[in-house]
Amino acid sequence: MAILEVRQLNYVYSAGTPYEKAALRDVSFSVEKGDIVGVIGHTGSGKSTLMQQLNGLLTPMSGQVLLDGRDIWENPKKIRDIRFRVGMVFQYPEYQLFEETVRRDIAFGPRNMGLSEEEIERRVRRAATFAGLREELLEVSPFDLSGGQKRRAAIAGVMAMEPEVLVLDEPTAGLDPRGREQLLSRIVRYARENGTTVLLVSHSMEDVAAVADKVLVMNKGEVAMMAPTAEVFSRAEELQAMGLTVPAVTQIFMKLRDSGYAVGENAYTVEQAVRRLLPLIKGGAAGC
Ligand code: ADP
Repeated sequence: MAILEVRQLNYVYSAGTPYEKAALRDVSFSVEKGDIVGVIGHTGSGKSTLMQQLNGLLTPMSGQVLLDGRDIWENPKKIRDIRFRVGMVFQYPEYQLFEETVRRDIAFGPRNMGLSEEEIERRVRRAATFAGLREELLEVSPFDLSGGQKRRAAIAGVMAMEPEVLVLDEPTAGLDPRGREQLLSRIVRYARENGTTVLLVSHSMEDVAAVADKVLVMNKGEVAMMAPTAEVFSRAEELQAMGLTVPAVTQIFMKLRDSGYAVGENAYTVEQAVRRLLPLIKGGAAGC
């Protein structure tokens, strides 16, 4: 069942002025509950505009966003509730930390939801654990955390609202490879254990390949593709024409195939590549 459905959504910035800019054109797609969807597209393709439509930060000019089958604008007075149900982690979310302690920062969203102190405390602990923040860090000032810890605290604040849909805009930007990998696996574990649907906007094809079940490709304000990850990355030429790439391992696989090696299907993660190549290498060695 689709948790999120976008129907023929249109959005224009500065409508009616000389600066008018159509940012979304007839955008339609749906996302199944529990799916992790990678959102990719060249800069300016409309990704941020689209994400801001999903929790009502921007209003459509025409078209609809349905959450669990209901138009999020059905009752505009209740749009605040939608923001609790569709959690948004913006780029560099650590700049939005402002409370005296990490605990209070993570509790900020749940407190706005009007939950009991007991429930807030339960959620703070749970979210901190998923985000990988040790208990003692809850009492320190967010400004005393390391960069990676700040990022995790900010993400924990959104996780603590236990949204049905979690939207993350470039969550690993600026982290080192180890930090990226750890944060991504924490997000995936959180999503799988809570049945949360995730939309992950990323410039990193490697990140998308590592976690996404499906990929939404935006191009010039339109949906260019919405398909399982393997299918999207098998359409390398189309992606390249949109100024996008495929993961490095996929490029290597395509080159191997062009050079006549029987590598079979494309691989888009290192693990897949190893699984496909090992038998070939062993077979080759045995033949020598
Ligand atoms: P992406 O997130 O893929 O980089 P955006 O949604 O930010 O794309 O932008 C889509 C288009 O809308 C771009 O052409 C961009 O220049 C334009 N745009 C984005 N934000 C604004 C704004 N606040 N005012 C006017 N135009 C904007």
